[in-house]
Amino acid sequence: MMKKIQLGKSDLEVFPIALGTNAVGGHNLYNNLDEEQGKEVVRTAIKNGVSLLDTAYVYGLGRSEELVGETAKEFSRDEYMIATKGAQYFDENDEEQISNDPEFLKEQVEQSLKRLQLDYIDLYYIHFPDEKTPKDKAVAALKELKDEGKIKAIGVSNFNLEQLKEANKDGYVDVVQLEYNLLNRENEHIFEYTFENNITFIPYFPLVSGLLAGKYTEDTKFDDLRAENPEFQGSKFKENLAKVEELRSIADNHNVGVAHVALAFYLTRPSLDVIIPGAKKPKQVIENLKTLNIKFSDAELERINKIFPVGGK
Ligand code: NAP
Repeated sequence: MMKKIQLGKSDLEVFPIALGTNAVGGHNLYNNLDEEQGKEVVRTAIKNGVSLLDTAYVYGLGRSEELVGETAKEFSRDEYMIATKGAQYFDENDEEQISNDPEFLKEQVEQSLKRLQLDYIDLYYIHFPDEKTPKDKAVAALKELKDEGKIKAIGVSNFNLEQLKEANKDGYVDVVQLEYNLLNRENEHIFEYTFENNITFIPYFPLVSGLLAGKYTEDTKFDDLRAENPEFQGSKFKENLAKVEELRSIADNHNVGVAHVALAFYLTRPSLDVIIPGAKKPKQVIENLKTLNIKFSDAELERINKIFPVGGK
């Protein structure tokens, strides 16, 4: 039977492999996205037990939520859970702004519910911290929505440790979603707090946009977000490719791809019990399920820590 993970202190139990959907309708993030293929990615996930779908308002400014909601509706409500995020708005100059104002967040939840065609959202995150709202007040607004049954669990994303502690003053935070991957292990310092406070740590950007999947070479050219990411530039890119190659022998030992070694390593970290690899193709969703079969030896864990040390950006 498939293993299930309780999200924080909530009643939600999810399969440890979830799905990142910023490439489902995220036209502002990727070029030439095929919406039908995106829907097929979501369908494949749900059919294969990947119960938690991770979206956000900013992925396609509502389009990802619409497509995820539309596709999920083909299934019964107990077969999937949807996590979404909000905090952004666009001012009169069309510049993106962040607000954690309690009333604003409540309004954002209502809009997400409409786009997703849902009666309740399983997990709602404050996507980014703003500079002025006390974080416990922002979370209190979500707690009210939880008490009303409009959301089932509370998350925060891109909060530093201090902001997370403030947000969790009353113990209401179930999940924190932060950047974490083999090339950037800086956020490991949060694990102690999340572990002790029963908060699930969900890492985003786990495959560094596919860089940790071992399929790129020095000659690969990018025309999307990756073209601006320093990890994909010049000597840094070459260095990263060489490190990823070093994972190859571990992957071969387990008969999996390099991506799965990275993903399985994350699941060995304290309080990090759920991962959200993004996928553009249905095949990637299926492949990423292999992650759960990997059990590392101590020597393999040591080797991974040596290739990708904490602080070794
Ligand atoms: P990612 O998971 O690091 O990379 C995803 C990309 O890796 C895919 O689009 C695909 O790209 C490639 N890939 C996936 N599985 C693969 C496989 N088995 N073999 C080979 N390549 C594979 O990055 P991400 O999608 O940016 O992040 C994951 C999720 O995190 C997002 O969907 C989103 O839900 C969330 N996120 C959250 C925040 C936040 O602020 N909270 C920020 C960023 C992302 P190609 O097919 O093009 O190679």
